[in-house]
Amino acid sequence: MLPRGQQYRGFPTMDADSIIATSDRHLIPTYARAPVAFVRGEGARLWDADGREYLDFFSCLAVVNLGHAPRAIVDAIVTQANRLLHVSNLHYCEPQARLAELLCAHSFADRVFFCNSGAEANEAAIKLARRWGHSLGGRRTEIVSALGSFHGRTLATLTATGQEKVRVGYQPLPAGFRYVPYDDIAALDGALTDTTAALMLEPIQGEGGVVVPSPEYLAAARRLCDARGVLLVFDEIQTGMGRTGTLFAYEQSGVEPDLMTLAKALASGVPIGALLARDDVAACFGPGTHGSTFGGNALATAAGVATVEIMTDEGFLAHVRALGEYVFTKLQTLATRCPAIVAVRGHGLMLGVTLREPGASVVDACLARGLVINCTAERVLRILPPLVIREAEIDRGLAILEEVLSP
Ligand SMILES: *Cc1c(COP(=O)(O)O)cnc(C)c1O
Repeated sequence: MLPRGQQYRGFPTMDADSIIATSDRHLIPTYARAPVAFVRGEGARLWDADGREYLDFFSCLAVVNLGHAPRAIVDAIVTQANRLLHVSNLHYCEPQARLAELLCAHSFADRVFFCNSGAEANEAAIKLARRWGHSLGGRRTEIVSALGSFHGRTLATLTATGQEKVRVGYQPLPAGFRYVPYDDIAALDGALTDTTAALMLEPIQGEGGVVVPSPEYLAAARRLCDARGVLLVFDEIQTGMGRTGTLFAYEQSGVEPDLMTLAKALASGVPIGALLARDDVAACFGPGTHGSTFGGNALATAAGVATVEIMTDEGFLAHVRALGEYVFTKLQTLATRCPAIVAVRGHGLMLGVTLREPGASVVDACLARGLVINCTAERVLRILPPLVIREAEIDRGLAILEEVLSP
């Protein structure tokens, strides 16, 4: 291993302008990007191709929860890369076995299916729920999800996503999906029937605007699913992996799902997805019923093992909860000084600040001052710092935010 800071010696070979121009010339333009090209990071700090330093309140969309270039993850990746990058799923490999075992040991689940992204994990959840419904005679095929949800961009997962805008232009869509307003128990009561296979929910809606449901909502969802014989699926792709102060957000709700999906931070930045299930439901998948060439890839699962080991270390998650309280309290104080802020919500280090006006210009102004932050659902500033951020860095980021929000 090269000493930290030296791994990028000789890079970048392109300056920021040419990285941006080349990307804009050759990439299919599915994203609206800010004109910054990052080349290096450490903890909660990032550097761009022009050598400018930034503070990270975004974690590349809740992916690098352990920060940029975390030593233990980099070591795990390098060690694994020197042995084997990939083993096909027609054979076995140790990191895949160990990550599956760790995820089961730290959750409700008995079994794991690995894939490569969040959408694929939800696609697998939908497919497993359908097979489970067919195993009961075939009446239960419908997937119920919430308005405002986000579950991915494949045809099935964008259909499960409760936002019209992601579906525009993609009809015909797969059949068998229906939506309920989020955090509305009466609506669930009306929507779960003997033709429902599964209810799919985010414990906190991420893309929808860091929407925290009332404390009784997830418990009511569990109760109704049990009463109606419906599977409960938690999409913890964004809320999972320590983000809300526990390894999985459901732990704070007092209820367990039947299925859970993970991705984003599971391997600290290496692409991965996972579907976790109880034995009885997992039994509906057998050899040949589902698969993925790269699913459970040795490099990704080695990074996943190191990630889970760090997050379940003594004191790690308690520290995340303490940091979360610290940011939340500071944001509430900021809100009293700052008429631009309507509300503050969230758990752990998944926080949303609702603004009176659309937040795009706030995001741009923060970036210009060296703070990477995100806005979702038009008016909700989303604060997702690496879980390893320091208090002094939080203070610095919030000072930038206050400067931008104060007239
Ligand atoms: C990001 C996200 C997804 C989609 O994950 P991809 O890896 O982009 O496919 C699904 N559900 C939730 C809650 C997410 O935040």
